[in-house]
Amino acid sequence: MIFDLSGKVAIVTGGNGGIGLGLARGLADAGANLAIVGRNEAKSKAAVDDIAVRGVKAISLAADVTDKAAVARMVEGVMGQLGRIDILVNNAGINVRKPPHLLEIEEWESVIDTNLTSAFLCSKAVYAAMKAAGGGKIINIGSMMSIFGASFTPAYAASKGGIVQLTRACACAWASDNIQANAILPGWIDTDLTKRARIEVSGLNERVLARTPAARWGAIDDFAGIAVFLGSSASDFVTGAAIPVDGGFSIQG
Ligand code: NDP
Repeated sequence: MIFDLSGKVAIVTGGNGGIGLGLARGLADAGANLAIVGRNEAKSKAAVDDIAVRGVKAISLAADVTDKAAVARMVEGVMGQLGRIDILVNNAGINVRKPPHLLEIEEWESVIDTNLTSAFLCSKAVYAAMKAAGGGKIINIGSMMSIFGASFTPAYAASKGGIVQLTRACACAWASDNIQANAILPGWIDTDLTKRARIEVSGLNERVLARTPAARWGAIDDFAGIAVFLGSSASDFVTGAAIPVDGGFSIQG
């Protein structure tokens, strides 16, 4: 029963593909109704079809999560169509792979806005609904770049380090409202985002396989279990944590 999400409502930003879809599938299989948020409406519609066959309600909402007004409309849309908000997954993310001296300020801002500021905007926007409902769960998506550095990820690493600290701040601020905020730190996962990285960063595939004790790239369905744990009452005494889901990448000496 502690993993049961029947009747709960979850928002997953960037839930129309990649890790977000893996998280959404896990939440749906545990019984949660889903709001899938993204900019690409065709991709979101396909994700809704994928979720709906699991026997829960699923809707898609087109929103750019860097836009405060769009985030407000997203929350209104979920409240209007699904009636409540219990779980928010801040998953939308992008990367621009360049060393700091070649990164333009516009590229820096777009990565920080998409990966970090969006999580602040969405968390702030759902707070009142969660508080009124007597509690809630915020799940932020960090990265191995929350812990490590790399020459080609200045903005991305800054955003992913920042998201862990935002998680801790929300966990402290909202514990008395029974809202738990935690972060997931994915290792190297096979998605559209990393398909490009494999092309752009030479030797990456071999380095990932050599360093990951599980000796494989992660799959999006590897995120179902952690989504259910952090979205359910099973994690009611877990808050402010940053949990790697990485096949052991972060503990390899
Ligand atoms: P994908 O590129 O497959 O998915 C990214 C998602 O974010 C898309 O669904 C996209 O939807 C959405 N998105 C991007 N920008 C916006 C925006 N402005 N507004 C709304 N939605 C947006 O990448 P992943 O699944 O790999 O990444 C998901 C998360 O996991 C990211 O935060 C990423 O940093 C993180 N991560 C990924 C790792 C990996 O190895 N793959 C490792 C560590 C962390 P749309 O295009 O429709 O807007």
